[in-house]
Amino acid sequence: MKNPTAHDTKNMTHCPVCRQLTTHENEHYPFCSPRCKTIDLGRWVDEKYKISRPIEQRDLEEGVD
Ligand SMILES: [Zn+2]
Repeated sequence: MKNPTAHDTKNMTHCPVCRQLTTHENEHYPFCSPRCKTIDLGRWVDEKYKISRPIEQRDLEEGVD
């Protein structure tokens, strides 16, 4: 006996931003909306920026000159 609810759940995931359920059919998957997609992209860019810019001795030396 098929369980349509289980099938639907299989193709659903929680939006990484707001935890709202979204489906593979959503054009913004895995996000629920273009807004969440933009928010997540912004977070990712911000994280990458922080990680790619550790304060190192080399940076300080370059800053002096
Ligand atoms: Zn969302």
